[in-house]
Amino acid sequence: MSGKSFNPFRMAQVQFDRIADMLELDQATRDFLRYPVREYQFSIPVRMDDGSVKIFRGFRVQHNDARGPGKGGVRFHPQETIDIVRAMAMWMTWKCAVVDIPLGGSNGGVVCDPHNLSTKEQEQICRGWVRQISRDLGPLVDVAAPDVMTSGQHMVWMLDEFEAIRGQRLPGFITGKPVSLGGSLGRKEATGFGVVFLIREALKELGLRPEQTRASVQGFGNVGQPAVDLFKQLGGKVTSVACWDQKDQTSYCFKKESGVEFEALLGITDRFGSIQKDRALEQGYELLPGEAWIEQDVEILIPAALENQITSDNVERMSKNVRIVAEAANGPMTPEADKVIARRNIFLIPDLLANAGGVICSYFEQVQSNMNYYWEKDEVLGKLDVKMTSAFDEVVQFAKKKKMYMRDAAYYIAVVRVVQACKDRGWL
Ligand code: NAD
Repeated sequence: MSGKSFNPFRMAQVQFDRIADMLELDQATRDFLRYPVREYQFSIPVRMDDGSVKIFRGFRVQHNDARGPGKGGVRFHPQETIDIVRAMAMWMTWKCAVVDIPLGGSNGGVVCDPHNLSTKEQEQICRGWVRQISRDLGPLVDVAAPDVMTSGQHMVWMLDEFEAIRGQRLPGFITGKPVSLGGSLGRKEATGFGVVFLIREALKELGLRPEQTRASVQGFGNVGQPAVDLFKQLGGKVTSVACWDQKDQTSYCFKKESGVEFEALLGITDRFGSIQKDRALEQGYELLPGEAWIEQDVEILIPAALENQITSDNVERMSKNVRIVAEAANGPMTPEADKVIARRNIFLIPDLLANAGGVICSYFEQVQSNMNYYWEKDEVLGKLDVKMTSAFDEVVQFAKKKKMYMRDAAYYIAVVRVVQACKDRGWL
């Protein structure tokens, strides 16, 4: 990550303060919404394969649950911090509100690097995380999901531990489960597909056809992969994909002017979303430094890796051709970079909207799990498209009417809804 003093929670607060000023919110409302309502930090002891015991740091933050039970991912990352978790939880509150689903904002994580952990060690971390916080989680309280470096398997271990503690089958406890154990069809693709549904809508706004556009994508994991796949199906061309290389501890950008072949690229990508360099060279890719993804001569940029990737340091390096930035990752752009995007009149699809497909489909999964009745994949993806497109239309119309930047418009609608729910409950 670039930007030495970057603090995502501070960034989330700056974004909120801007809207609080516009809405002229009173001090108590600001104080309430600038911070999470509840935070948990805990230690998870794990018996390692070599017999030693190692202690892992775990977090869960519940930012706001006025509109419904908390919802949010659990990330496994060596650089995870409480401030990242706070920021993600806060963003989740606004995300659920802007797409109008009856859920609040939560997030969690563990400081660890799954690259260096055996399957058994990861299972123990998952079970330990649940044991520490099971009293404050549940289908009607707070529902976790996968995020960076966690998968359906991690969710199943967490579910199994929770059900063992409660002595009940409660599949609505967690989402992102494998379909065989109460997951939803379409969940795997949902976030990446949702990003592309909104790129399709943004292209209509700009009077462009997908065939006239090229995209550069940072990240080729849970979100990046289906985004690349669907964008290509729509007729667009993806000319570069960047990802992290664990061995070299740096990122690379894989470029192919004629367009990446999705299936072939997927075939040389590991479960963490890292592409094998030597095999990519064999497939005719040009190997560039990771930061090159942002400088490509494309119409669409899709940051789908981590937060803090488009900053004042690199935003000016964007090609003049860029018309759309679709924030597939959470918080990929700093407020300084936002100013440049707004000045250059680039169409921003803010993270609150762009990657909401994940939480919308998680919500569908929760509904199906709680009913114990499951929908067909077409039904899930059809409902997802309708929900995302209508939220997008609402934000675009509002932004046009108020002559607002897209991020501000999305935030504005979300904050109004959350404040209203807090007031209706008599909290504020
Ligand atoms: P993932 O772990 O599956 O994939 C991450 C990808 O980013 C990998 O290809 C990895 O190599 C790459 N990457 C990591 N660090 C990089 C760097 N410094 N430079 C270039 N590439 C780098 O994670 P994911 O689930 O795809 O999540 C990606 C982003 O989307 C995160 O911001 C996450 O919070 C957000 N998000 C995920 C979901 C979801 O459903 N998984 C939903 C909403 C938002």
